[in-house]
Amino acid sequence: MSDNKILKRANELFEEIRTIRRDVHKHPELGYHENRTSALIKAKLREYGVDNIEQPTPTSVVATIVGRKGEGKTIALRTDIDALPINEETGLEFASENDGVMHACGHDFHVSMMLGNAEMLSEMRDEFCGRVKIIFQHSEDTQPGGAKELVAKGVMEDVDAIVGLHVLPDENPEEYGKVCFRSGPMTTSADLVQVTVTGLGGHSSQPHLLHDPVLAASQMIVLLQQIQARYTDANETAILPITYIRGDSAINVVPERVEFGGAARTYNNEVRKVIEDQVYKIGRGVAEMSGCTVDVNYVKGYAPVINDKELTALSRVATADAIGEDRVIDLERPMNFSEDFSAYSDVSGKPGTFMILKAGNAGHYAPLHNPASTLNEETIPYGMAAMVATAIRYLNEDCSA
Ligand SMILES: [Zn+2]
Ligand SMILES: [Zn+2]
Repeated sequence: MSDNKILKRANELFEEIRTIRRDVHKHPELGYHENRTSALIKAKLREYGVDNIEQPTPTSVVATIVGRKGEGKTIALRTDIDALPINEETGLEFASENDGVMHACGHDFHVSMMLGNAEMLSEMRDEFCGRVKIIFQHSEDTQPGGAKELVAKGVMEDVDAIVGLHVLPDENPEEYGKVCFRSGPMTTSADLVQVTVTGLGGHSSQPHLLHDPVLAASQMIVLLQQIQARYTDANETAILPITYIRGDSAINVVPERVEFGGAARTYNNEVRKVIEDQVYKIGRGVAEMSGCTVDVNYVKGYAPVINDKELTALSRVATADAIGEDRVIDLERPMNFSEDFSAYSDVSGKPGTFMILKAGNAGHYAPLHNPASTLNEETIPYGMAAMVATAIRYLNEDCSA
């Protein structure tokens, strides 16, 4: 089957996959609670006749499809399956039936496309050597994230390379169905910085007798913004917006305690370490200066996704052959969101590549994680073809490995 046949077959499966997509969209489930979703995935995988189905955790599903062209490598294709705690406001006829839960990050698209990939790859066993492992990962949008758990369960042990895809809504109609590639950094890290400043509260007429946690917290928040300005390379991205501050009191009462926090993001693991060290250092300095106690809780979240150069190049060529060079985009800049896909390569050291499918919108543009976010279903076959073409190209480069 040539690469063009991959897109042709993906197009033939379109209505079936769209039906699955709408079903999943209508029944979203939060991370770690994807019971209906994983049951649906297993039922479809059995129908498609994959070689093996496992559940490393209660709501994740891993399927294996063995090629018939002989021994070879193993490539993993990964999708996430969870939804978000958002009240859907799209007005779609297949809108969420679960109050307060919505597939607003496109994981319903991801699930259905990946089931389509499983169906295609099962049909195409004669066309490749080695094995494809399909990972339906639970809880991407709820930290600590399912990826780390699956890696800890050994899911990457027999895998040589891993490929992931995320949809992205788009305003521009001409960009629909294009697939974006980038070698090197693709998404940011996301570490949580949570700080509690405890002082000595009291009457605001006598601040000299107190240790004011409001002033200390204010100074620390400003100092945190100097990390990027003075401690990291100007060519590197490093942001740490503080998103909450709580110190409830009365207008004439200095409070005992102030809490604040935010997320630190960068594309570089070395910069990430600098940020972490500086946050602690600033905390110690402000404590010394103010007489307050400063408790810093720096929670390592998702690492940046760093796309492997060779695997990304292979995936790009395979995708261009399958869907046309005019539908391939070489991204100049990485995405400014984070993804726990990074855990698969980060922990295992295996090469990974993460692509973006420009998925338009269904008549009204809104970004991901927005209650009005919609996607254009016509883009489904392009995402499927990109992943299947990548898997087959990778495996057939090295038969009897
Ligand atoms: Zn998300
Ligand atoms: Zn997502």
